[in-house]
Amino acid sequence: MTQDLVPITVATGDGIGPSIMQSTLHILEAAGARIAPEYIDIGEKVYLSGQTNGIDSAAWESLRRTKVFLKAPITTPQGGGYKSLNVSMRKALGLYANVRPCIAYAPFVNTKHPDMNLVIIRENEEDLYAGIEHRQTEEVYQCLKLITRPGCERIVRYAFEYARQQGRKRVTCMIKDNIMKFTDGLFHKVFKEIGADYPDIEQDSMIIDIGAARIADTPEAFDVVVMPNLYGDIVSDIAAQIAGSVGMAGSANIGSQCAMFEAIHGSAPDLAGQNIANPSGLIHGAIQMLIHIGQGDIAQKIHNAWLCTLEDGIHTADVYKEGISKTKVGTDEFADAVIARLGRLPQQLPAVNYEGSNPLNLPHPIRKAPANKTLVGIDIFLQWQEGDPSQLGNKLYSLGRSNVELQVITNRGVKVWPQGLPETFCTDHWRCRFVAPNNNLDFAEVLALQTRLHDAGFDVVKTENLYTFDGEPGYAAVHG
Ligand code: NAD
Repeated sequence: MTQDLVPITVATGDGIGPSIMQSTLHILEAAGARIAPEYIDIGEKVYLSGQTNGIDSAAWESLRRTKVFLKAPITTPQGGGYKSLNVSMRKALGLYANVRPCIAYAPFVNTKHPDMNLVIIRENEEDLYAGIEHRQTEEVYQCLKLITRPGCERIVRYAFEYARQQGRKRVTCMIKDNIMKFTDGLFHKVFKEIGADYPDIEQDSMIIDIGAARIADTPEAFDVVVMPNLYGDIVSDIAAQIAGSVGMAGSANIGSQCAMFEAIHGSAPDLAGQNIANPSGLIHGAIQMLIHIGQGDIAQKIHNAWLCTLEDGIHTADVYKEGISKTKVGTDEFADAVIARLGRLPQQLPAVNYEGSNPLNLPHPIRKAPANKTLVGIDIFLQWQEGDPSQLGNKLYSLGRSNVELQVITNRGVKVWPQGLPETFCTDHWRCRFVAPNNNLDFAEVLALQTRLHDAGFDVVKTENLYTFDGEPGYAAVHG
């Protein structure tokens, strides 16, 4: 009955998108998915019509109404001016959690890691993806890495709740907090805080570089892995590829109100129009969507039929291997093979069971009471060409006053005054830290200092206030 159908927004995408979407919808229909798709145009056509973000207002309207989006990959045209539609959608719709299961299907799909079965939970909105970039001087460009406490709390809690719901045993946090003590340090701290609410789940942390190396080498040692946006982006592609094929993995982008489901791969223009792409990534996105809308029964039926298809050696070209596979099929025929197996259970690969699976219902992060915030200094960034740090130090020192004194100058984070090393390479970008000796700086002093700098001919390109929060410094110390 029409009223039982769940409206979903569907974009057929570019390149192989229309073909894999048609196959996926064909399977959903045959399996009895109770959905009412409504179609929107996004991607290349919209970009080239002059819409630089690749989406128009009618599409937004549908997305905000249905709150469920099944999306085929799109092509971002080459060249400047086009914004990433994926990044815009994740941020505009608040899709904070990107869930990417990466599973091996040995012995039916060739992989060096037959026991691999891990899920990457990637923070989806923050980090270096804020798109806040500036050129500050002739030589120096900057990208802001933003990590927030509510953002960390949401993604970390999501990872633990996901692990508990899916019967997984361990959550590993990957960060680089030996270097980024404030941003990645916060992610790690929140992981430990929230982890205390989940004593039933094992938990550990790794620095991202060795963590990524271990995932590439022994992925079977991992279960659920949670990480900030950029690391998750890179590591989840590696994990999907070593599981068998980048064409097999699906992804869910989950927010508190909306959710988007897709394949992890792109529009593969090299395969477009040939009926040879693997539709499995999008099928897996659709399976996650069905679970999300409370149709775990249909998700389970499709997933088990898909496993049977793999077991029967019916493979698309990307995973086809002589000696392992039996029949090489195209996109449409693969979908037909899945449909023919609806209702069957796999014999060797473990069958899935999604009965009673529901979307995770997470509490909103509770805002902490504000800390006692005190201005204690300021980092002033200058463009300055001359090059001798002691000359700069002496000039700036003379512009200080008893209540705001020059403490240190760094270049690319390395101390160059006082007592820098002549070997240190310097650019035209100088961070000059002024502090209040009594640890309490009146902002009027900051303005007066900036005026003195300006009057003395200095080019101030940026300032960053130094605060303490309940007495704890809210800024990194200078080393060297
Ligand atoms: P891609 O993922 O499209 O292709 C990478 C390689 O994997 C290619 O060799 C391709 O043939 C193969 N491949 C991908 N999907 C496959 C499938 N289903 N079956 C078999 N083989 C498959 O990455 P790319 O070539 O870097 O990007 C192509 C376009 O896709 C670009 O315009 C990019 O911006 C876009 N893109 C879109 C998304 C998205 O919409 N979510 C994600 C990534 C890239």
